[in-house]
Amino acid sequence: MSVAEGLARVEARIRLACVQAGRPRESVQLLAVSKLKPASAIREAYLAGQRYFGENYAQELRDKAEELADLPGLVFHAIGPLQTNKAKYVAKAAAAFHALDRREVAEELSKRRQGGPLPCFLEVNVGAEASKSGVTEAALPALLAQVGALPNLRVVGLMCLPPLGSQPEDARPYFRRLKRLADDVGLLQLSMGTTLDFEAAILEGSTCVRVGTAIFGER
Ligand SMILES: *Cc1c(COP(=O)(O)O)cnc(C)c1O
Repeated sequence: MSVAEGLARVEARIRLACVQAGRPRESVQLLAVSKLKPASAIREAYLAGQRYFGENYAQELRDKAEELADLPGLVFHAIGPLQTNKAKYVAKAAAAFHALDRREVAEELSKRRQGGPLPCFLEVNVGAEASKSGVTEAALPALLAQVGALPNLRVVGLMCLPPLGSQPEDARPYFRRLKRLADDVGLLQLSMGTTLDFEAAILEGSTCVRVGTAIFGER
């Protein structure tokens, strides 16, 4: 399957999920996750109309942003765990950061950011899994306050990667929980849903689905 075909299929599935959820298509942003895929695959998706891309690794994001600088309107979001020494790449090349879970990283990003605050999602470890990044629910209010005090970051929402279940439906209680947490603190955006479960995420209120494999194929 070509990238354009993968994209068209995902787009059709998003539309259907939006209809089922009674939501307008524009209420969900599709982030095409291009990590470990070549810049040529991003070009292909761009030519098919896709503008928003998600990258996990800071240096890869920096390199691809440079290589694809000729494409107007192309936007990268950083979606993976970040080390403080690489925050500078994200501060410079990303239009948003989805995996903020530590004050140290937030401080470094704010220090390095120029040209307007960086929109950030706080990542919540909704399944309280030892293997996953993200703050615990209990630590969320403190992180929110810390990040809120930084001049060059703006918290726009919450993000999660739910525990791996045997079917997409298994993720729904976790998505619902994230929505509840966001509502409680007045955050409007929810970055949730991947190839495995993006329709379930849309039904639970996702405003940004991060889809890689269904568009670009296996990594
Ligand atoms: C890789 C990745 C995705 C995309 O996963 P797919 O299963 O390929 O759709 C989404 N979110 C995060 C944080 C990722 O690391």
